[in-house]
Amino acid sequence: MSWKLKKKTQDLLASEEGFIKKDWGGKVAFALVYPNSYAVGMSNLGFQTIYWHLNQRSDVVCERVFLPDPEDWDEHRRTGTPPFSLESQRPLSDFDFVGFSVTYEGDYINVLRLLGLAQIPLRPEERRPHDPLILMGGVCAFSNPEPLAPFMDFVVVGEGEEIIEEIVEGYRAAFQGVLPSARNREALLAKLTSIPGIYLPHAYDVSYHDDGTVSAVHPRSGLPGIVIKRRLGDVNDFQTISLLKTPKAEYGHMALLEVGKGCGRGCRFCLEGEIYRPVRHRSLDALREAVAKLSKESKRVGLVGACVSDYPWIGGLMKILEEYGVEISISSLRADSLTEELVASLARGGHRTLTVAPEAGTERLRQVIRKNISDEQLYAACDMIRAHGIPNLKCYFMIGQPTESDEDIEAIPDLAARLRERLFRDGRSGQLTLSVSSFVPKPWTPFQWAPFDLVERLERKLQTIKAGVRRFPNVRVFHESPREAFLQAVLARGDRGVGRLIELAAQCEGDWRKAMRAWEGDPTFYAHRARPLDERFPWDHFEVGVKKTQLIREYQRALGLTPAPTG
Ligand code: SF4
Repeated sequence: MSWKLKKKTQDLLASEEGFIKKDWGGKVAFALVYPNSYAVGMSNLGFQTIYWHLNQRSDVVCERVFLPDPEDWDEHRRTGTPPFSLESQRPLSDFDFVGFSVTYEGDYINVLRLLGLAQIPLRPEERRPHDPLILMGGVCAFSNPEPLAPFMDFVVVGEGEEIIEEIVEGYRAAFQGVLPSARNREALLAKLTSIPGIYLPHAYDVSYHDDGTVSAVHPRSGLPGIVIKRRLGDVNDFQTISLLKTPKAEYGHMALLEVGKGCGRGCRFCLEGEIYRPVRHRSLDALREAVAKLSKESKRVGLVGACVSDYPWIGGLMKILEEYGVEISISSLRADSLTEELVASLARGGHRTLTVAPEAGTERLRQVIRKNISDEQLYAACDMIRAHGIPNLKCYFMIGQPTESDEDIEAIPDLAARLRERLFRDGRSGQLTLSVSSFVPKPWTPFQWAPFDLVERLERKLQTIKAGVRRFPNVRVFHESPREAFLQAVLARGDRGVGRLIELAAQCEGDWRKAMRAWEGDPTFYAHRARPLDERFPWDHFEVGVKKTQLIREYQRALGLTPAPTG
């Protein structure tokens, strides 16, 4: 092992507060891996929650592993140092489980890069009895795990808080006292299938039509044809909080608290709004208990949830937070559910920027995507934040959405000009930031049948927006690359064949163009094709709680093919 890398990790650990280091003796060792940088992983509440809960068990040691920093890869290779855990600096291959928390398609390649660097065989059929069991969880695991499925021993389909304990129990029952070299992986995996929400990809054979679309998925005998997403029974029974603080992550200086799961707004592009159904809010009593615990560790709490400003008892929650003397932070708010009380609380907490997500420049397109926020509500949000002395506003927009026209694009800088006028009247200074992303049609949303826009067209749209605000010194535009969004569309909508593309990209050190040239598949087949309503999707052998007929109805309503219900 490289001493330089080890020292860097020890320094990182020394800068943290709240990490858990345990003796390994006789315990199940679980490597919780975030396949991205430390800073990104440590801002993820789900990742931190699993770390905390696994370590509450006396029979488990759970340690964190992250993707090495770009500047450290050469040192890893030169010294033959595999990825290792933060807490005890043990290599991945020492653990019983290697669990990837996958929340973003762009991280798929990193899963394979980490396994490669750890010299753990990429495919389950090549793994030896002593190799760790490789699993994935996180939102990608229950939206569409198929592109990564060929590399997983098993997949956790659903909310992981309860299921992860059942996995540990199953493991202990099967392997307690068994030497690593004598472990029967297949027998254990077969047992794990009795846990609802566990999916064994290699026990499901996929067949395809001549045109490349999925024709059928055949489970091996005894397994269910449809894998049903596991959801947390009662959110009040399970605290989703982070207590680990670090100066090296965006939200690392504050404790994080989830107020609930899901969102009932039904925006037609939103994956989170669909797959966390039904909406479940934590009770005020449960949150009071969590705040009491968090306030001992931190005087700043970040509220997390699909749509925090929709939390039905937000006023009561603000009072509790004030009682405990903690300041709050919220990453993004709905302009139509902002209240004076909430904005005042954010201002008191030192918020300098408030973020809202109109998503489209015109009210027409906002209705199509079902983000029913009016221009008036956006102006009112500007007035409110100005009145409370918050100088900056950030607005999220998406381009390339279904039915979008040139007018919708030109409306974005026009709207920015009007928002700017409202924000900075009376000579106030501040910044208006437009954050523009490309719309990626995600599984389980009403727009899953829609095509991804052409990269060149998206680039032209970005130029129009940038040119439209150029004359305003206090308006800036940030955007992700449409080419990266194209890749995200391929991975989000992919089948198992896309797994080979990810493998090639990992071999080419992240050079996706080269990987695509070497791949026998066609990326445009996955990204740009408008899919017929009767096509079987690669993710159709899962059930996440959303009916396809309902999604089709919503899609047709968006396109104006069926009228929206009245009243
Ligand atoms: S309000 Fe936000 S979280 Fe809720 S469905 Fe719409 S985009 Fe998703």
